Amino acid sequence: MRLLIMGPPGAGKGTQAKAVADHFSVPAISTGDIFRANVSGGTPLGIEAKKYMDAGEYVPDEVTNNMVRSRIAESDAEKGFLLDGYPRTLAQVTELDAMVDATGHRIDAVLVLTVDQEAVVERLLKRAEIDGRADDTEDVIRRRLEVYAEETEPLIEVYAARNLVVEVDGMGEIADVQQRIFEALDVVPQS
Ligand code: ADP
Repeated sequence: MRLLIMGPPGAGKGTQAKAVADHFSVPAISTGDIFRANVSGGTPLGIEAKKYMDAGEYVPDEVTNNMVRSRIAESDAEKGFLLDGYPRTLAQVTELDAMVDATGHRIDAVLVLTVDQEAVVERLLKRAEIDGRADDTEDVIRRRLEVYAEETEPLIEVYAARNLVVEVDGMGEIADVQQRIFEALDVVPQS
């Protein structure tokens, strides 16, 4: 199973990605989490990425593509993966296609979580109080939403043209959203 999960910042991608990935016994690979781990560890990648992340901008494609290429080449991703937060630009779509083609596989579905923009800002501001993520200030949140609309939203059309998009309403309780996702993917949650 090779899945992508898309949606604006604050759509709840990370939470839902874990449940879906567990169900299919594949790793949930979050580029945001990998970048944050590198920032915490003070690695050269983290130092480079932090400049962009703190401003709500995307890390350059080349840096991100190389990171994803090496991550999905690891043995736990051989049978599949769920990518959360990648691809986010058209150039990343092209790169991912090449990476997946090279293994003789294809992307099976692209899960799109839809949410109301104001609700998302509220969720992210609340999260900022709890985990204190550096990019959860109101100005940076607005910028991340803008960048998402400009650079990433158009990718939904690209995948829709390939008939891969599975759209799910991301509003409401976590468990309800999860239920909708499993129904949309036509499987029953394992619990
Ligand atoms: P969110 O979806 O809430 O904005 P993420 O944790 O997915 O948060 O990403 C945090 C930040 O990491 C992004 O704002 C961006 O700077 C960087 N990032 C994550 N994935 C990518 C990507 N595919 N391309 C470029 N930058 C990325």
